[in-house]
Amino acid sequence: MREASDYVLIGGGLASAAAAQAIRTRDPERSIVIVGEEIHPPYERPPLSSDYLLSDEWTSEKAFLKPDGFYADKRIELRTGVKATAIDRVARTVMLNTGDRVRYEKLLLATGARARRLNGQGRDLAGVFVLRTLSDAEALRRAILQSKRAVMVGAGYIGMEVASACAQRGIETTVVDRNNRPWSGFASPALGGFLREYYEARGVRFLLGDEVATFVGDGQLAAVTTKSGEKIEADLAVVGIGAILNTELAREAGLEVDERHGVKVNAFLQTADPHIWAAGDIAFFEDLALDRQWHVEHFMNAEWQGDAAGAIMAGERKPYNKVAYFFSDLFDIHMCLRGAPSAGTQTVVLGDLPGAEFVELSHDHAGRLQMGVAITRDPSRLDPLADILEGLIRERANVQALSAAAFDL
Ligand code: FAD
Ligand code: NAP
Repeated sequence: MREASDYVLIGGGLASAAAAQAIRTRDPERSIVIVGEEIHPPYERPPLSSDYLLSDEWTSEKAFLKPDGFYADKRIELRTGVKATAIDRVARTVMLNTGDRVRYEKLLLATGARARRLNGQGRDLAGVFVLRTLSDAEALRRAILQSKRAVMVGAGYIGMEVASACAQRGIETTVVDRNNRPWSGFASPALGGFLREYYEARGVRFLLGDEVATFVGDGQLAAVTTKSGEKIEADLAVVGIGAILNTELAREAGLEVDERHGVKVNAFLQTADPHIWAAGDIAFFEDLALDRQWHVEHFMNAEWQGDAAGAIMAGERKPYNKVAYFFSDLFDIHMCLRGAPSAGTQTVVLGDLPGAEFVELSHDHAGRLQMGVAITRDPSRLDPLADILEGLIRERANVQALSAAAFDL
């Protein structure tokens, strides 16, 4: 069937939901369609690696971004379980796997990412998981309830968050990563060392500088082997070795991407095609706040960019200008990061590192603040710390001139 919609948003995630709301706030009349491949309405992913795994009472519906009836009330057509298969930019039409075609005036690409899988023997055994979707989390939680020994492949965000949940569930947990510290993509040796000790004190074992070679078992996972020759008994493995951006659709439509396949957009989140924008994980954007071009795979970025793209598509002429913000919850500590991650060694720690109340500031050669990580046990302190870091990053503060008092530590 041939249809037409003023705004078509491809991807049923956070960025699309934020964009639809921003459009509707500014444009009460014109039609909006969200096309989402997953069966669920747009939902938050952060609880999937924490609350959802920790509590049997946490239902899937709690993760939904909007209350029942939101999309109908706002006259946003939400088509779940439907995949966009091609974009004809000349005819300004999106092809769907239902056989339908939707013509658009303005198109948002917010197709997010999928979990990278490990190519190795035994990867399809029962008990070997990745974690990206609500369906993944539902299956993983069922397995966690039965598990005695778990292995995390990768000590990045997924590995560290799921390890925290498994350890809190009393599961004997081992984290394997090819680098020499957790969060190696952005953590300094001091921060990585802090995190490792924090986990080890809670029973988690690390196997660093090593890689998983095979998953062993007869139908069900029984052990994991590593390249250095270790064999770890395990009934559960979670592979968290990064994400692959879902940009095949954009690339096949001839839109420009960077070497990591992020869709290139300007500071108005617009591609070189004036009818197409991109937001969230897939957007390789011109970052005015940090003066660089990059892509960011985190919650606040998707929400903020979805909101900004929706406003721009509805006619506002305001560039995207936020300071990147990442957050993570691990055991009883809360972390936020502001700025551009760099696993540099030029860092200064202020506050109480062993007591888990500190900030770590990374600076460039001239001593200017580039990235700040705040760790606290008190969740109410996280936003104020994040705001202070943002202000200091925007003014390119001299790190040597800062003291713990600047952060009320
Ligand atoms: P996504 O959320 O990936 O949504 C894109 C949607 O588009 C998906 O549903 C996908 O199926 C759909 N899609 C793809 N291709 C098509 C197509 N052709 N047609 C139709 N639909 C399509 N970030 C933080 O900052 N803090 C956290 O604590 C945190 N926790 C996380 C925990 C987990 C388990 C995961 C997986 C991520 C977490 N993140 C966190 C990252 C954050 O959730 C993502 O950055 C964010 O979801 C990106 O939003 P998005 O809308 O760009 O993409
Ligand atoms: P990630 O944070 O990039 O971490 C992946 C880790 O696995 C890295 O340390 C990586 O090392 C390592 N690794 C890669 N291949 C490996 C291998 N074969 N064996 C052992 N280790 C290997 O990715 P993720 O944790 O899988 O997260 C996936 C996505 O979800 C990301 O987009 C992330 O931002 C998002 N997410 C975010 C949060 C949050 O913000 N709190 C929470 C969950 C998920 P190298 O760097 O050397 O490759």
